[in-house]
Amino acid sequence: MQHERIATKVNTFMADVIQRSPGEPEFHQAVQEVAESIIPFLDTHPRYQAAKVFERMTVPDRVIMFRVVWEDDNGTPQINVGYRVQFNNAIGPYKGGFRFHPSVTLGTLKFLGFEQVFKNSLTTLPLGGGKGGSDFDPKGKSDREVMRFCQAFMTEMQRHIGQNTDIPAGDIGVGAREIGYLFGQYKRISNEFTGVLTGKGLHYGGSLIRPEATGYGSVYFAKEMLATKNDNLVGKTCLVSGSGNVAQYTIEKIIDLGGKPITFSDSTGFVHDPEGVTREKLAYIVDLKTVQRVDISHYIQHYPNATYHPGERPWAIPGDLAFPSATQNEISETDAKTLIQNGCKLVSEGANMPTSLEGVEVFRNAKILYAPGKAANAGGVAISGLEMSQNSMRLSWTRDEVDAKLQEIMKRIHQQCVTHGQEADGYTDYVKGANIAGFIKVADAMLAYGVM
Ligand code: NDP
Repeated sequence: MQHERIATKVNTFMADVIQRSPGEPEFHQAVQEVAESIIPFLDTHPRYQAAKVFERMTVPDRVIMFRVVWEDDNGTPQINVGYRVQFNNAIGPYKGGFRFHPSVTLGTLKFLGFEQVFKNSLTTLPLGGGKGGSDFDPKGKSDREVMRFCQAFMTEMQRHIGQNTDIPAGDIGVGAREIGYLFGQYKRISNEFTGVLTGKGLHYGGSLIRPEATGYGSVYFAKEMLATKNDNLVGKTCLVSGSGNVAQYTIEKIIDLGGKPITFSDSTGFVHDPEGVTREKLAYIVDLKTVQRVDISHYIQHYPNATYHPGERPWAIPGDLAFPSATQNEISETDAKTLIQNGCKLVSEGANMPTSLEGVEVFRNAKILYAPGKAANAGGVAISGLEMSQNSMRLSWTRDEVDAKLQEIMKRIHQQCVTHGQEADGYTDYVKGANIAGFIKVADAMLAYGVM
């Protein structure tokens, strides 16, 4: 009965969200996952309900959308769309990455911005949530073309961001190269050297451990989850997807902590290396993806005991732990069932929303250790927050100092999930825990500001 009443409330709530944001299925998916945790919580916390705080949180503070025109190497003008979704700055300036990928739409960036609000709140740092990017595809473009695009994009974007307003960073398709071009153009136009972007190079204001932070953080989170079962990573076979920034450092930290990563992927397919990816093999993957900029099928020419599976994802390979680290909706309901049948005990999401809503239900019903992206991948934005602190103080912390802070932050996020997500039978629902803990801080700040 109670279950049905909540389901009706969630449906009514979602009907309103969908009516206001038609054609944005990823955004609806992200809101629904949070609504399923927050709506029952509101029943026992009427002050949030009376002020309609959660309803307000589903509408961004503002959306900026603009034309980006740049010249390719043939001198032909090319046109892309640029966006910044400034979702919520109740607890700090907007913070969240830029994504450059042909699939980017306003709906994609609204889902990412909405998730970011909760994630940033969980880090315990004073960071609001935002996200931006473009449908520009850096793949197959020359460095000069990427530079001209980044300069054109930043020429408009710079009016809307600032070190105390909105501090973007990287995401899919935006790595060290793109951040360099973007920061250079901001500096040129504003005539100011300020920490307006994070993920910067070390020689111009970046923080040690920022490139590693999301991947390392996701593995540290897995370590915390395993510790609740008196277990650890030693000897565990690990399925990783992706081969970009997050996946690379996830693989590195799994190796450091004694696990055995046996898969990785990209948009063309996945590689299964039953002998395990070593540090040397990882260096080769990094070279393929960031220097040669080619697909991962080349790996098997170097390491012939591995197999390449075009057009497939790694979830049918048996493994103890899974670290989806590529993109959204890469684990379907069927994939989730296969993982469980094959004995997977833990899923730590390095990517944002990699599991479909049905897949999430499979993990929760099986009561495995399942950490949603907003908790498990929050290490990246947390260290971005520390990069901002170091920029403001005009000093740099050592690698060990930043790594220790990252581990401490991941512990605190884990603890908040347990506090708000532990059920009567001792099972921790990390989805519920992360959503409620993230919500409370933002909602309390919004209540303090009155009706706006
Ligand atoms: P990168 O661009 O460095 O790597 C992305 C990886 O995912 C590549 O292997 C890419 O393959 C693959 N990929 C991208 N899109 C698709 C797709 N549609 N289908 C299949 N594979 C795809 O990005 P990041 O590593 O930075 O980001 C990965 C995930 O982590 C994203 O969900 C991002 O939002 C999330 N994240 C990133 C953070 C960060 O600090 N960078 C922080 C928190 C979350 P290919 O090379 O073929 O394109």
